[in-house]
Amino acid sequence: MTTKTSPEITPSIVDAVGEAWVLRFPRFGEEGTHYHTYGLLTPYFKGLSEGRLLATRCVNPHCPISRGNGELWLPPRADCPDCHQPMVWKPIESPRGSVYAYTYVERGGSGLELPCPYYQIDVRIAGVCTIPKSYLVGPGPIKIGDGVRACFRTGAQATHTCLDLYWVRE
Ligand SMILES: [Zn+2]
Repeated sequence: MTTKTSPEITPSIVDAVGEAWVLRFPRFGEEGTHYHTYGLLTPYFKGLSEGRLLATRCVNPHCPISRGNGELWLPPRADCPDCHQPMVWKPIESPRGSVYAYTYVERGGSGLELPCPYYQIDVRIAGVCTIPKSYLVGPGPIKIGDGVRACFRTGAQATHTCLDLYWVRE
């Protein structure tokens, strides 16, 4: 039960349109190229490719829930789900967490970029009000509560997708 340390993942091609990234991902060959934009969430994906984990939080003093002191959201939201105002970006320094839940994936679906088997994990992070889903690189077995720390695929290794964030056990 070992996930490869450095899975070979085809990187997406990034085009910048203003501040937003638009990706071209030949997931199923040239005829099956997938296009999409990260729009206002571009800083998150750009941050991953630079080795930084960026969350968002609401600082609107009129927000009915956060009252201007919102918790961190990860994956980030461009706008607060409670007051619908723009959130602000906040880096998480030395991101660490614990395994909240996991799934051992033996067979992935069509188009899955990760080599199987691997552990898909949900990570509880102090100060973050959401429990983001990601994946673990390294040997198993694992158990609920195991400590993990974030790692990133950066530079030439970056895929410019959510796969640029992964976790290893402490
Ligand atoms: Zn709000």
